[in-house]
Amino acid sequence: MAEKKHKTAKGAIEWDYSPALESTSHVQLKDRYDLFIGGKFVKPSSGLYFDTINPANEEKLAEVGHGNAADIDKAVKAARKAYNEVWSIMPAKERAKYIFRIARIMQERAREFAVVETLDAGKTIREARDIDIPLACNHLFYYAGWADKLEYAFPNRSVRSLGVVGQIIPWNFPLLMAAWKIGPALATGNTIVLKPAESTPLTALLLAEVIKESGLPEGVVNIVTGFGDAGAALVNHPDVNKIAFTGSTNVGKLIQQAVAGTKKKVTLELGGKSANIIFQDAAIDQAVEGIVNGIFFNQGHVCCAGSRLFLQEPVYEEVLRKLKDRIQTLIVGNPLDKNTDVGAINSKEQLDTIHKYLKIGKKEGAEMYQPECPLPAKGYYCPPTLFTNVAQSSIIAQEEIFGPVLTIQTFRTVDEVIQKANNSPYGLAAGIWTEKGSQIFNVSSRLRAGVIWANTYNKFDPTSPFGGYKESGFGREGGIHGLAPYVKLEAL
Ligand code: NAP
Ligand code: MG
Repeated sequence: MAEKKHKTAKGAIEWDYSPALESTSHVQLKDRYDLFIGGKFVKPSSGLYFDTINPANEEKLAEVGHGNAADIDKAVKAARKAYNEVWSIMPAKERAKYIFRIARIMQERAREFAVVETLDAGKTIREARDIDIPLACNHLFYYAGWADKLEYAFPNRSVRSLGVVGQIIPWNFPLLMAAWKIGPALATGNTIVLKPAESTPLTALLLAEVIKESGLPEGVVNIVTGFGDAGAALVNHPDVNKIAFTGSTNVGKLIQQAVAGTKKKVTLELGGKSANIIFQDAAIDQAVEGIVNGIFFNQGHVCCAGSRLFLQEPVYEEVLRKLKDRIQTLIVGNPLDKNTDVGAINSKEQLDTIHKYLKIGKKEGAEMYQPECPLPAKGYYCPPTLFTNVAQSSIIAQEEIFGPVLTIQTFRTVDEVIQKANNSPYGLAAGIWTEKGSQIFNVSSRLRAGVIWANTYNKFDPTSPFGGYKESGFGREGGIHGLAPYVKLEAL
């Protein structure tokens, strides 16, 4: 790779890399995608389509069916029929074979999935290729393995499926969230209506092609693209037995209200404002990498992003200096370039939201730092951003920004940092950096967060459960725990 050094205006040394664009020649997007209902691609009943665009350059990628309540109704009926006539009576080991098959075809088409995810979502190709797609496949493989072993997951109980489940997913990990949802639902014998986010429908539609190719019986998985009203129609449909939702806390609350008084089961995976805590005895260089990985990874579009950094006072100066140096070297730009560290913000709306918070932060008196970095002329981009001088009560320290923006606060004692970290309406994740194992156990048992990483951040595995406390939602996805929300347990 050709590379050369140059000095920035502030005198920092930077490396220039030649572009290393991932090829898109193996990807053939269609001009127009229909809804996937009853095993077939069908036109939306309104006849309407909407554009999905590439946030890296604002170009249109394809048109996608604008599903509405009538399409959701059709999809629920197809799912009910498939549940009654095929899926609920199929032997579990046969169900498993289909899930394995879907995972294997996805794996074979992994390069295509990764490029389409990058084009549609703006995330870096490195992340789509190394994290989203392999993890999505692994989730399906993992849950395929459980399908015929449910009596071991829930010993001495009779395990029954629920029926038709409605699943609504966000735009930050489009295929991965689809896999998190469909894997356990299929393994436990339910049928599905999935509603992808409006700004990232394409990998779900590729998944529909894979599902068709796998020979999965018609109607077991239905995918209806559209806007929030399609999601609401799914939540309110009387013949849906369970809703699994991942998205914002506001919509999560609406869903909870909508299902109150019905027999529908619900799981909600919502927002976060997770604390990343660096103690003075931590390995500082590794911690700096962990901070970068925790918040600048995926442009901060991660529900469990380590968006609140807490530094113990003796290492404040050192960590801040190293962090500023490190983010100066991050490459912000075309997500298809393998050198890019920070890709495009998912949509114009999300970029506007981030800018709104940057203004609020400055107005609140916090000090903002952004490295000098050229941004592409077209597309939605935000450089990695640090805020120091942040008060515990600051809006930027309390509300989820969902962008590459980190607030930095200090602490002296363990009790102080636990109090500060827990002082949040959210409780999704946290990170602890220290040499002492006892400190890890002490702090992690007192933090109110669903996932706590020690001396690492943003590590995922299909075998470990994920989910939040407080306004980060309830219910767990992943691991053996992820099966429970999809089954009814009865005495043997
Ligand atoms: P969102 O606005 O809540 O949307 C999530 C999904 O819900 C989308 O498919 C959306 O459709 C749909 N929707 C919108 N209004 C609805 C309604 N009234 N009823 C039913 N469905 C509705 O969230 P987002 O902005 O896409 O995603 C970002 C949020 O998700 C962040 O807060 C993030 O923290 C959270 N998140 C949490 C986790 C976790 O596991 N805890 C994981 C990833 C993301 P449209 O796209 O058409 O609006
Ligand atoms: Mg898009």
